[in-house]
Amino acid sequence: MDVTSAAPRRRTRQIMVGKVPVGGDAPITVQSMTITKTADVEGTLQQIYALAAAGADIVRCTCNEIEAAEGLAQIVPRSPVPIVADIHHQYKMALAALEAGGHCLRLNPGNIRNPEHIKAVASECKDRGVPIRIGVNGGSLDSKLYEKYGGKVTPEAMVESARIELAYFEEVGFDDVKISVKASSVPLMIEAYRQLADAVDYPLHLGVTEAGPPPAGLIKATAGMATLLAEGIGDTIRYSLTADPVEEARAGRQLLEALGLRERKTVDLIACPSCGRAEVDVIDVAKRAMEAFGDREIPLQIAVMGCVVNGPGEARDADIGIAAGRKKGHLFIKGRNVAVVPEDEMVETLVRYAERIMEDGIDAVVAAADTKGAQKAADEDRAALLGSQGADANDAGTRIDLIRKKT
Ligand code: SF4
Repeated sequence: MDVTSAAPRRRTRQIMVGKVPVGGDAPITVQSMTITKTADVEGTLQQIYALAAAGADIVRCTCNEIEAAEGLAQIVPRSPVPIVADIHHQYKMALAALEAGGHCLRLNPGNIRNPEHIKAVASECKDRGVPIRIGVNGGSLDSKLYEKYGGKVTPEAMVESARIELAYFEEVGFDDVKISVKASSVPLMIEAYRQLADAVDYPLHLGVTEAGPPPAGLIKATAGMATLLAEGIGDTIRYSLTADPVEEARAGRQLLEALGLRERKTVDLIACPSCGRAEVDVIDVAKRAMEAFGDREIPLQIAVMGCVVNGPGEARDADIGIAAGRKKGHLFIKGRNVAVVPEDEMVETLVRYAERIMEDGIDAVVAAADTKGAQKAADEDRAALLGSQGADANDAGTRIDLIRKKT
């Protein structure tokens, strides 16, 4: 049976952000935003390249002043990914960003409220074939809507804000649109996106705004976006973290990979949580393994397991795994023991074998290994550990007896 983590994807129309399709049957994309001054062309481009390498398909840059628009004009032709210009208060900056060649605009309806200005921007976008993201933000909702909904930000108010903007666009025949209804409250944004998904067929850009620094920010953003993605809602995503934006791009890519919504490009590192049986500091070994693999294009599942008693069995489906036992690392590939190395070589052994698998394939690496010798060594260490610790490392039987005697 095919196991997927998401409901069927919501049907939407498709738009093009530069060469990247968003919505329809296009793969879900990852976005991030630069934190440099856009006028700093070289610094911004450097960050855009770093974001693209970490998994961003589309990058947004602020266009808040004329120097930023001038910077955009130089950045856009040299960028490896499409550029979205972020416009907040001045509609003229939207026109300047279009002149600079921006592939998409992001307009916040709470900030540009003059209908004539909105329509002027939409008309220009229509003529140039450039899409707009309507970026509703719970924190900067139009004050009239805020009052209408009882002095609070509600999902209904956020959806209405998007619809008002859409109505202006319709007046000039513009519908090249994607929409976001972000809030820093996870339940609020989930409900707003659900309502929006029912109301329109435009592609949706997901995000929990101002999620904050990791790890709490990562958890909030993941809770909101993963819930919606699992319901089939969402066509492009952005983590808004108070962190190096490369972390945002990486998190976006990892979320889609974890949900099976994007082909894996980098290592999927799994590791046991450690317990009383652990023969090694699992946290340290897993951390060093993460650092060693980094963003390298090695799409294998790699397991770090604390003991040879249970590790190889629990991680038998991993492409490669290593389990500690009596100062040794027992390496296994798809559940078959292939090598035994000193404990302090566990990480480098994982990397070496991963590289060999990428080059020669799993079957060739297993065929070249002394599987019998490795299996025998693992069996011996396993038996020795079971002999000293018993099948129950925590010696629960004796402890239960003791507890009974005391009560
Ligand atoms: S693999 Fe071993 S050390 Fe890790 S959680 Fe399982 S029993 Fe404990």
